Amino acid sequence: MELHWGPKCQIYVTPIAADEICVALVSRDPHLRLDAALTAFPEIISRLGAAERSSVDRGAITSTRKLRHVYRGRVALVGDASGAVDSITGEGLCLTFRQAEVLAECLADGNLKRYQEQHSRLSQRPAMMARLLLALDWKSSLRQRVMRAFGEDPRLFSRMVAMHVGALSPLEFAANGVSLGWRMLSA
Ligand SMILES: Cc1cc2nc3c(=O)[nH]c(=O)nc-3n(C[C@H](O)[C@H](O)[C@H](O)COP(=O)(O)OP(=O)(O)OC[C@H]3O[C@@H](n4cnc5c(N)ncnc54)[C@H](O)[C@@H]3O)c2cc1C
Repeated sequence: MELHWGPKCQIYVTPIAADEICVALVSRDPHLRLDAALTAFPEIISRLGAAERSSVDRGAITSTRKLRHVYRGRVALVGDASGAVDSITGEGLCLTFRQAEVLAECLADGNLKRYQEQHSRLSQRPAMMARLLLALDWKSSLRQRVMRAFGEDPRLFSRMVAMHVGALSPLEFAANGVSLGWRMLSA
């Protein structure tokens, strides 16, 4: 997939079938629509060319939300109903599947208290990434510095992606943060 990050929005381009792609817009501006947003991305417009539209625009609200309790009695919540991370992370579905796996184990053990604990633990990293990415979205000067640092040292970007999917240890995570900070200061 491709991610294009402009001053007012992000545009995602994702293949969804052999002859079809999905172009999605994420923005803080609730009035911004795809056609208007695309004018800031001439490269995407030229690549889309005269491609035929296969659907109308559809929209949804995205936010980060944490609930104090994700179960009570015989009712347990999973997925977005149990809290959510901003769609800027691209983590919603992954988090939901991880919660479902843990919930199945906890139901089998009859221990929903453990589900509550594990649910909280699972949300921590995506929620932190949401805060980080939203800060980058908010501050374009910071975003440009980060992108420049990634451009100069692509390993930093790879490690950032590994961090995002939880494939780095806490120590590696901290070391990458320090390297990125250093690169940004010197960029
Ligand atoms: C703009 C946007 C972009 C996103 N991008 C990504 C991404 O790139 N990658 C990713 O992993 N995640 C992404 N997400 C998050 C992802 O869509 C959600 O995390 C995921 O859909 C959650 O699944 P769910 O089943 O918990 O909830 P939902 O998908 O919201 O499903 C809940 C369903 O319940 C139905 N429903 C609601 N109330 C009732 C009722 N009273 N009776 C019957 N049915 C009801 C709803 O109609 C809906 O179909 C994005 C979200 C948004 C908003």
